Amino acid sequence: MSEPSAVVTARGADRIAGGHLWIYRSDVRSAKAEAGDVVRVTDARGRLIGRAFWSDRSQIALRFLTVRDEPVDRDFLARKIRAAAAFRGKVVADTECWRVVHGEADLLPSLIVDRYGGYLVIQTLSQGTEKRKQELVEILVEQFAPRGILERNEPKARALEGLPQIVSVLYGEVPDAVDAVMNGVRFRLDLRGGQKTGAFLDQRENYRAAAQYAFGEALDCFSYQGGFALHMAGAAASVECVDSSGEALAAARANAELNGVSNVGFREGNVFDILKEYDQAGRKFDTVVLDPPAFAKSRTALEAAARGYKEINLRSLRLLRPGGVLITCSCSYHLSEARMGELLWEAAVDVRRQVRVLERRGQSRDHPALLTVPETFYLKCMILNALD
Ligand code: SAH
Repeated sequence: MSEPSAVVTARGADRIAGGHLWIYRSDVRSAKAEAGDVVRVTDARGRLIGRAFWSDRSQIALRFLTVRDEPVDRDFLARKIRAAAAFRGKVVADTECWRVVHGEADLLPSLIVDRYGGYLVIQTLSQGTEKRKQELVEILVEQFAPRGILERNEPKARALEGLPQIVSVLYGEVPDAVDAVMNGVRFRLDLRGGQKTGAFLDQRENYRAAAQYAFGEALDCFSYQGGFALHMAGAAASVECVDSSGEALAAARANAELNGVSNVGFREGNVFDILKEYDQAGRKFDTVVLDPPAFAKSRTALEAAARGYKEINLRSLRLLRPGGVLITCSCSYHLSEARMGELLWEAAVDVRRQVRVLERRGQSRDHPALLTVPETFYLKCMILNALD
């Protein structure tokens, strides 16, 4: 039986030479493969480009695992996972939960592995990793000896691959609530139903930064289960969590109780309305956090999203007392760091305040970005200081 294969155009080959890991379907000339196979990829003259996962559905037809002439077998996957874990050993500290494998940035495209204490949560987001799911589970059991492995396979990306949405236990047992401490703060997490795989692990280092700058009266907008709020509660006099989801606020309240914190309040509502209300009422804060969901889910949605980002940032800057701090995030890949900087600049001009940049931050280091795959850098977090 011959090895599954694909032949790509010169433009496709150039993308890989340029360091990207994806080739789109329009740059595939032909393929002899089944959904999810690892294929040997060549150019039209038969020169080897590398080996990649083949998808027979997605616009992203090929996701590269290697540009060398080496087999992509169980041993290959085990080596890559071991390397990913070893890197986390260097950059992850003071937490019981972190991302062990971050897809493309660990050269394991479309595989996510998050660790919460003794439990692992995985996502297999393409036909390639889906096909090897059982093998991946075996490797994870060998390397990490978890008590349980859960698949949170309901991201929309799976639909583009023709894969079903599934949440199920693949190994051992996974309880309904898992406690994990990060940066000294305890969270009760719902790995089955919580956002992402249970928590916003990509914000973990930004939580710690927020705790360093927070003071006085703090406002945590889009608070979800209180990630920023509970980190700031020790340094601020009070923190108000705002979220449109009562369920999210109930989780935040439970987390506050778990930590014996009593200076955190909760307000259910739309952040846009509440910021407007506070602004019109002349209400002031010393610290504001903005961590909205991705407003720009596509490039075409960017302009409307940019207006939304500008509005909440402008109002937040106006709410700050002199010396106040704004911690402002965007997880929209389509809103570049440069564009976000422009929006904040415009907002500062509109409110007639001098604003100092204290830090430009991104996703936590266990969610690294690949220099030549811009899609892997998505989370921006700017820490600003309103001077006068
Ligand atoms: N800061 C959180 C993550 C925020 S996720 C953390 O670190 O854990 C985004 C949150 O925004 C969700 O909880 C969602 O319920 C809430 N949300 C979305 N749109 C909103 C709106 N217009 N007003 C208030 N909350 C909103």
